[in-house]
Amino acid sequence: MTIENRVDTAQRLRDYVGGAWVDVDVAEVHQVHNPATGEVIGLTPLGGHGELDAAVRAARAAFPAWRRTPVEDRVQCLFRLKFLLEENAEELARIVTRENGKTLPEARGSVRRGIQMVEVATAAPSLLMGQSLEDIATGIDCESVRQPMGVFACIAPFNFPAMVPMWFFPFAVACGNTFICKPSEQVPFSQQFVWKLIDEAGFPPGVLNLVNGGKDAVNAILEHPDIEGVSFVGSTPVAKYVYEKGAATGKRVQSLGGAKNFIIVMPDADMDQAIGAVAESAFGCAGERCLAASVVLAVGDAHEKMRKGLVEHIRGLAIGDGSQDGVDMGPMISGPHKERVLGHIEQGVAEGAELVMDGRDDVPDDGYFLRPTLFDRVDADMKIGHEEIFGPVLCMMPMNDLDQALEVTHKHPLANASSIFTASGKSARKFRYEVDASMAAVNIGVAAPMSFFGFGGAKNSFFGDLKAHGREAFDFFTDRKVFISRW
Ligand code: NAD
Repeated sequence: MTIENRVDTAQRLRDYVGGAWVDVDVAEVHQVHNPATGEVIGLTPLGGHGELDAAVRAARAAFPAWRRTPVEDRVQCLFRLKFLLEENAEELARIVTRENGKTLPEARGSVRRGIQMVEVATAAPSLLMGQSLEDIATGIDCESVRQPMGVFACIAPFNFPAMVPMWFFPFAVACGNTFICKPSEQVPFSQQFVWKLIDEAGFPPGVLNLVNGGKDAVNAILEHPDIEGVSFVGSTPVAKYVYEKGAATGKRVQSLGGAKNFIIVMPDADMDQAIGAVAESAFGCAGERCLAASVVLAVGDAHEKMRKGLVEHIRGLAIGDGSQDGVDMGPMISGPHKERVLGHIEQGVAEGAELVMDGRDDVPDDGYFLRPTLFDRVDADMKIGHEEIFGPVLCMMPMNDLDQALEVTHKHPLANASSIFTASGKSARKFRYEVDASMAAVNIGVAAPMSFFGFGGAKNSFFGDLKAHGREAFDFFTDRKVFISRW
């Protein structure tokens, strides 16, 4: 079949607005590919102001009744959604693999993490409670209550198509807000499927809306006067833009950006544990994780041990279509993204880093594959030592001591996640105390906070005040009203 024929038969995605599926009548579309084959599997309509405005009107109209719905009744819809997600988790994971490329076990894990968000949001009757104090002055009492604010929206990246929107919408609607989700145009199928389950779960029309699009839809969200707040996840330049533009139009914004994650390995670390965890962190999901290990800062003789162990580990990794058994690493998301990562590798070689394992060798012709790539003797000023690559490329920088390693992390403008591998409580304590990254771990490769904790980085990896999910979500999605009374 020619590409043209496949485009003709590819499924055109729809929006979900006011409790109904709607065809989106726009000329511009984004071709969605199966990254393992290159086949065009869908067309994302690139809606703009008109499509977004329809969703805002539906969400706005649904807000007064949803807000008045007792929280205990609101969360019943989330309980139904949770069970529908459980029943359909395998199908959702397969959709994630097909449109994103990650392996099926990785996709299953991401769906599980998404479902856990819904579980935490069902605790809203407890987590939404306010505070009160009698006699703040004689005969005067004071209480604070959390109130929903109206319409919220989220803008999602391509790398976790099912999970990332679930960081936000379960909490927003549990709090009594209504919501609009704009998935990444590169991976629209997962949320299309989630919204089918939302439709079955019995949320009133307009409470949860789905709008497909790219840049224009994002600008429409940021410019719309009836959207109270925006949750963004994506690259740092866009995160900064969303934060600034959203704030300029008076919105509450939490904007999660890109990452360059440093992993410190001390000479006293359990090397087998460190090698396995670092390799999984760097090459899992083809390195397309905001928590992926980017640079190994191995201290003293840990450097040679790590390098040798990583080379051996990488040789054993099988790449291929993530839907097949026995595959350790799937493809990258797209042809253009692969080209960008290849550009980084070429630049690294040109700048004098040592290419220890070259992932460009022996890759399948179809799809957007690259093998795990390892650079050594990387300098912090080199492009590969500094910029986010977001592919299966791991860099190593030999370090003399922990102070030098921490200094490298302090100098970098991104601070999403970081880990240390050590057997020393003293080193671990120093790392925890001094590292800038706000998702930090000891002897763990992927410092991922679970649904009941907040998620988000520091410095240019996060713009805003309140992080995603956990208790902070109940702060982000409500206004705290203080009520003072004397009778
Ligand atoms: P991206 O910034 O290209 O896109 C994210 C969203 O923004 C998409 O919905 C897209 O439609 C929209 N967008 C893209 N360009 C835009 C523009 N110029 N103006 C307005 N909107 C625009 O990010 P991506 O490539 O989809 O995702 C990968 C990035 O996301 C990486 O940098 C990764 O580190 C980051 N990420 C961060 C976290 C975190 O928790 N901090 C989590 C996942 C991914």
